[in-house]
Amino acid sequence: MKALTFDGVGKVKVVDKDKPKLELPNQAVLKLVRTTICGSDLHILQGHVPTVEQGRTLGHEGIGVVEEVGAEVKNFKKGDRVLIACITSCATCSFCKKSLYDACKTGGWRLGHLHDGTQAEYILMPYADSCLYPIPEGADERSLLVYSDILPTGLEVGVLRGHVTPGCTVAIVGAGPVGLAAAICAQLYSPGAIVFFDKDEFRLEVAKKVGATECYKASDAKEAREVSKKWFSDKDGFDVVIEAVGVPETFLMCQELVGIGGNIANVGVHGTKVDLHIDKLWPRSTTISMALVSSHTIPMLLDLMKAGKLDTSPLITHDFKFDEIEKAYDVFGRAAETKALKVNIE
Ligand code: NAD
Ligand code: ZN
Repeated sequence: MKALTFDGVGKVKVVDKDKPKLELPNQAVLKLVRTTICGSDLHILQGHVPTVEQGRTLGHEGIGVVEEVGAEVKNFKKGDRVLIACITSCATCSFCKKSLYDACKTGGWRLGHLHDGTQAEYILMPYADSCLYPIPEGADERSLLVYSDILPTGLEVGVLRGHVTPGCTVAIVGAGPVGLAAAICAQLYSPGAIVFFDKDEFRLEVAKKVGATECYKASDAKEAREVSKKWFSDKDGFDVVIEAVGVPETFLMCQELVGIGGNIANVGVHGTKVDLHIDKLWPRSTTISMALVSSHTIPMLLDLMKAGKLDTSPLITHDFKFDEIEKAYDVFGRAAETKALKVNIE
């Protein structure tokens, strides 16, 4: 079978690998239907994730068809179409019982990291019963691709940790796939306003399509404060600020934008240290949260999709055949030029 692998810093390579075989009774083998590329795959390419070995099949998002299940798998059988969770959960350890699947004692972020991932013609899924979800009848599978990772990320790490509540004002810094997913989920809680900040005009246009109240072009804290002056009259800033970029400039921007008594929910993965102005934030009663996605909200998100309450179709911008996956990496990696958000690879 063909698999897209990490070939050292800056390089991916399609190679022939043996089709995976069941090794444990809780596993399933899936035939890939479609997959996508994540900002985290790019972090691996940039050499920021040293735990990924050369030759590892990348990818932790996708949809597949069950080919074979181990003796302990109860929920799935050959032929079932399934959504793959980006985080592997045993469902029984003390962390999984608290819905902290990312901290699972034998799971966590494994696919496309410590195990071969989803950017291959066949996938070996650990803990199949707790990491796969049935595809709802009649669902638009292309739009469902974002339910593996970025939609639960936007909800769990942005909206829920940021405590979006009815009527509150939400600033989202970063209108990439993750920030846009956070905006889609924030609307489930009827905030009073969702205001985006990004340096990329195309992405701010998409933010308007997914429900932004207002969009501002800004690339640092000073500029962000200047362009959004009108939001500072009441609580001196926003109730909830979601960081969906992962660079020091935008973490500073969040500290500038957060209002008195407000929350900063940091979603972005920071590869470096960032400045925290605790002297300015302490008297303003600021709460800061951060986490890796757990993915425990996927079943709830699928129910909301079935009820017609979530439209993620604007997040998928490009389509590729699996044979073109290296080209997909090139297009996704040059998103500012190519206007790519999430890419569908099938
Ligand atoms: P992305 O790179 O596609 O989007 C980032 C956006 O930030 C872009 O639109 C870019 O124009 C904007 N930006 C960059 N620098 C800026 C600046 N100085 N000022 C204003 N805007 C700026 O990334 P994404 O895929 O949307 O992911 C966002 C972050 O979330 C990444 O760090 C990713 O690794 C992280 N992430 C976290 C989790 C988690 O579990 N916490 C899960 C998935 C992704
Ligand atoms: Zn566990």
